[in-house]
Order: sequence, then C-alpha cells, then structure tokens
Amino acid sequence: MLEAGKRPAAVLVVDDEKDIRDGCERILTRMDLMVAKADHGLAGLEELERGRYDLVLLDLKMPGLDGLEVLKRIGLDHPEILVVIITGFATIETAIEAMKLGAYDFISKPFRPDQLRLTVDRALEKLRLQAQAQRLEEEKKRTLLDLSTQKSRTRAIIEALPYGVAVTNTVGQVALMNPAFNLLLGLDRDIPAGRPLSEYVNDRELCRLVEEVSQGGGTRPGAEQESAAVEFSPGRENYLLAQCTRVLNEEGEGLGAVLVVTDITQYKMLDRLKNEFLAKVSHELRSPLSTIHLQLGLLLNDGIAAQSSKGQNLLSRAHERTMGLITMIRDLLDMSRIEAGAGEEREVDLNGLLEAVVESVRPQADKKGQGLSLELPEKPLPPLTCDPTSLESVFTNLAANAVNYTPEGGRITVRAGLGEGRLKVEVADTGLGIEPEHLETIFEKFYRVKNEKTRYITGTGLGLAIVKATVENLGGRVEVASRPGEGSTFTVLIPLPER
Ligand code: ADP
Repeated sequence: MLEAGKRPAAVLVVDDEKDIRDGCERILTRMDLMVAKADHGLAGLEELERGRYDLVLLDLKMPGLDGLEVLKRIGLDHPEILVVIITGFATIETAIEAMKLGAYDFISKPFRPDQLRLTVDRALEKLRLQAQAQRLEEEKKRTLLDLSTQKSRTRAIIEALPYGVAVTNTVGQVALMNPAFNLLLGLDRDIPAGRPLSEYVNDRELCRLVEEVSQGGGTRPGAEQESAAVEFSPGRENYLLAQCTRVLNEEGEGLGAVLVVTDITQYKMLDRLKNEFLAKVSHELRSPLSTIHLQLGLLLNDGIAAQSSKGQNLLSRAHERTMGLITMIRDLLDMSRIEAGAGEEREVDLNGLLEAVVESVRPQADKKGQGLSLELPEKPLPPLTCDPTSLESVFTNLAANAVNYTPEGGRITVRAGLGEGRLKVEVADTGLGIEPEHLETIFEKFYRVKNEKTRYITGTGLGLAIVKATVENLGGRVEVASRPGEGSTFTVLIPLPER
C-alpha cells in the first residue's frame, strides 16, 4: 500500500495497443511514477506477481485473457491494488460492469494527457487516504493494547503490595480492594467491591474522613491534593493506620480517594512498652525525690544553712531543682496514665472542680500581684462523667501556664459556660502571648517556646500535651488564640451527654 513519503507509486499499464502503452508511460513517468507495461492480460498478471504495484491501468478489450477476467483475478489475488479501466467508447456498458466488479474508475479512449493525469491523481489520492486510515486504525489498536497491558500491570502491582489499598469513588463506594486490605481488615478474600466503605470497615471516623476526602471537603480546603490520616483498631490488640488521599484527574476534578492501610500494631506495642517503662521509672523516682526535696526544705528553714549565704544559695537552688524534677515526674505520670487510658470514672461536679483549680494557683498569682477570677454561669454546670484527676490536670495546667507566662500585675480569667451541647472553658490571660509560628507546636510533648522572655520560666513542655490528649479522650478539643505582648486565651470544648 502507498505510504506517504516512502517510495513513488508504481503503475502497471496492461493494454494490447502499443501507442496507448507508450503514451501512458510518457505521461505517468513525468508524474514521477514508476511505470511498467504488459501487452496482454496474462503478462499483466505475471508482472503483478513479480513486482509491487499500487495501480493498474487495464484495457478491457484484449485478445486472449479478457480484461474483465484479469480484473476478477486482481480482485482475488491483490485486493489492495486499485484498477482503472481503459475502455473504448463503444464498451462503456462493460466499463460499468467492471466498476461493479471492483474497478475504481475508468477512462475512455481516446483520452488527453490531462484526462489521464486527473484520473491517476484521483486514484493515487484514494490510495493515500486508504493508507492513512489503515495507519490510524493500527495506531488505535496499539494504544488500546498498550493501555490494557498498562492497566493489568498496574493492577498486578496493586495486588502484590504489602499495604492494604482501597480506592473509593466520589460517593465513598469502594471501587477496588487489594488482598492485603482484605487481610488487614479481616475481610473474606473474595468479597466483591462496589459497596459503601462502611460495609467493609467498622470505623465511623475513618468512613467519615474518606467520604470527606473523596468529595473534596478534606482537612485542608482548597489544597490540591487533600489527604488525611487516622489510626483505628479493627480488633483487640490490632492497630492500623489509614492514610487517605484524594485522586484528581488531569482537569483537577476529584475522582475519589485512595486509602492506604498499614499495620502499626508493633509500633503501638513498642510505644506502650516505652510508656510503661517511663511510668515505672517515674514512679520509682517520685518517693526518694520527694524525700530529698522535703529534707532540703527542712535544712533551708533550719537556720544551719543560713549561717553561710553561699550554703543558703546552694540549698535553695537544689530545692528549686528538685521541685522541677517532681513536677516533671508528675507530668510524665499524668501523660502515661492518659496514654494507658487508665483512671476511674465518676460524675464530676464541674463548678467545684473549677473553683478548686483556681484556688490551687491563687498563691502563685497573689505572689505576682495578678488579678485572678473565675466566672461561672448562674445555673450550676451539669455534672460530667470522667476521670476527675485528668480533668483537673487540664484546667490546672492551663491556669498555671496563665500565671507563669503573665508578668506581674496581669489578669487571669477562667470563664465557664455551656453552648451547643458542650462545656466551654476559657482560660484568658494578659501575658506574654505566643508567636503565630508556635501556636500548633506548643501542644506537642516537650515543646517549649524559647526566647528572652520565657528563658527564666521553668517547665517541662508536657503540660499542653496532657491538656490536648485528655480533652481529645473526652471527645473534645482545645483551641488557642494569642497575640504576642497582649495575652492568650485557651479554650477547652467538651461535648456533654444529652439529658
Ligand atoms: P511548659 O509550660 O511546661 O513549658 P506547656 O506544654 O504547658 O509546657 O507549654 C508549652 C509552651 O507553650 C510553653 O513553654 C510556653 O512557651 C507556651 N505557653 C503555654 N501557655 C502559655 C500562655 N498562657 N501564655 C504564653 N505562652 C504559653
């Protein structure tokens, strides 16, 4: 078949009249075509077997094998070759019959050179179009083949991954799950996909998150690729981490989400061991340290040390340091209690608890000449069922921070109220405030803001981590609003049971 830009088209002229053969040859050679000639039908057919031709100019009336017969044979043996019939005026009927047998066109004798050129050009154009169509068809087949191999390859890779993978569409229906996903979630190996995620995964928080990310809500509105992670436990002593990422098409439209699930049971166990070890060490250190602290206090008050100001100084430094260590041990024990989820629960009187907390920090506030007030609603707050020690440590930490990070003469207000079925407690101060870049990190364990103003304020960096973990265990959250140099407000929101 004729391919653009490859070789010149080849034409075979089959005619018993020498003048016609030579005339055609002259005209076609000038058109830059390759031309061969045959003076009867059989010779034409033999030539077609020898060479590669695109077009045959075929006389219908020849002695021996007649043109129509040659045409039929070409149709059978070389269907890709176009045939143009050369015919005398009188045989126009036969020419029409030839067209029916598959000839492409005909030209009547006698013809002028330009008539021949036109007819041949038309035939060659037809050949070119045919070649192009065939090329496109082959290309399409190849692309489809590539696509399907690529698809099955991707699928094989997903199936072989050691991580659980599930893909959901925009309405949260599972479109694909790999064997590791089924295994991690304890699902049947051949459970069919196609149902909403909640029918495969028994964790409401995860299902809500996946739906949110699939629909583009996500945790970071406006972000190109929404993603989120959540830990969950499908069974006892079995912990999984699910990371969910939104999938976008080339136009940036959401197609759904990919969920990757990893088994983090081992890390959880290690973490638990570490916490248990820390709790044990802290516990063992607490009593001897408290004794040392007490004895240092006695020595300081005893007057023996007062005999030398150097001794007095050393003792009071040591006394301060042991206090710091005792605070750290208390915080570590609080932290490990929260992480172990231990602690007895009972109905807690919130008014009483907040009053006790405020009074516990009043001595320090008074020492710094700070105003400290508690604002409670007129009606007593409803009781909350929880571990009172943990809840108390939330507000004690916030109130103690407010006193610590507020200079002398400042104001601290603890304000409690109800709203939208939640308990809302604000601890506001007029203190140092926090630079915006620290607002997220201050809730991390051991994170402390270090600058000229906080340099001499001692602390462990555990207080806010304890606050956050405790409040979240109660299904609530803690927020902070702060302006450097003006003060901070920490707000605790805890859902209350419906009454
Ligand atoms: P600690 O107070 O023991 O350092 P926290 O976890 O309670 O640890 O607090 C972390 C950091 O947050 C503090 O070091 C402090 O810089 C900052 N911070 C906490 N509360 C306040 C507050 N009320 N005003 C200003 N900064 C605060």
